[in-house]
Amino acid sequence: MSRFVHVLPMDDVIPHEGTPDCVCGPYTEAIELRAPNGPGPVAVLYRHYAVIPCRDWEAAPEVS
Ligand SMILES: [Zn+2]
Repeated sequence: MSRFVHVLPMDDVIPHEGTPDCVCGPYTEAIELRAPNGPGPVAVLYRHYAVIPCRDWEAAPEVS
């Protein structure tokens, strides 16, 4: 099982899309989710690049 999660700045000056094709060119990182018993599912994080320093970030599943 794999998941795609986008970490998006919510108060940036440009609108971000929760897709790999976002204009900011998000950076991808594979992470393993923690599970109580042994290894959990692997997820891919897309870290979006904020144009201005943002305080308000949100992790959201990829929109299909
Ligand atoms: Zn973006």
